[in-house]
Amino acid sequence: MVAFVFILGLFVGSFLNVVVLRLHRAESFVKGYSKCLACKHRLYIKDLIPLLSYLFLKGRCRYCKNKFSHQYPLLEVVTGLAFVLVFWKVIPSLDLASATALQFIHLLDWWVIVSFLIIIFVYDLKYYLILDKIVWPGIILALIVNLFLGFSIFNLIFAAVIGGGFFLLQFVVSKGRWIGGGDIRLGVFMGAILGWPHVLTALFISYILGSFISVFLLLAKRKEMGDKIPFGTFLALGTFVTMLWGPSLINWYFSLFY
Ligand SMILES: [Zn+2]
Repeated sequence: MVAFVFILGLFVGSFLNVVVLRLHRAESFVKGYSKCLACKHRLYIKDLIPLLSYLFLKGRCRYCKNKFSHQYPLLEVVTGLAFVLVFWKVIPSLDLASATALQFIHLLDWWVIVSFLIIIFVYDLKYYLILDKIVWPGIILALIVNLFLGFSIFNLIFAAVIGGGFFLLQFVVSKGRWIGGGDIRLGVFMGAILGWPHVLTALFISYILGSFISVFLLLAKRKEMGDKIPFGTFLALGTFVTMLWGPSLINWYFSLFY
């Protein structure tokens, strides 16, 4: 079952690569066929099998031998692993046959939400932009399914207001210099996914991850002080980590002090 979920994740990851590329080029991601970006040759199914095509063709285009970006196989594997982790979290027995209907809905919901988070992660990292086209549908989906799964509406609205308000405040204080409107809407999305109080856990984890990675990049001289930071990337990662391990991380953190 785990192998099946991993392969499903590879295929979804392959699709997410297409979504990121086509959102950037403002093309439809359901119509049209895939092309090599260098020689424009049409890519067929045999060229597009997740991971395997990349490995067999040694990361090159079959037709012009131009190198493909490492992003493609990397994103496929990351999505595969993320799908397995979510599956394990929602259905700890890893036995889909014994899952309840509610668990099954929870699983599908989280797979979709993780896919959205992966798009936000990659897109902000590459283009420094958090897409409303992804965030708004995400907010609506997370709210509806979480209500169904037993969250109270007050909890979710409060969490969304706290998540969005946290960035709105910085936006107002800095007159829009530190962060953009996309961060505010992503904060609302985080609240809608995680509810109260774990929206705070996710913000906390995102900031810690962001600081560590920024210091590392500064030390490695990959970034300079004052460079743009893809904050949506850290927020997406922090949200994912909180979905999987939020309660345990908070318990562990407070156990350090008491
Ligand atoms: Zn080519």
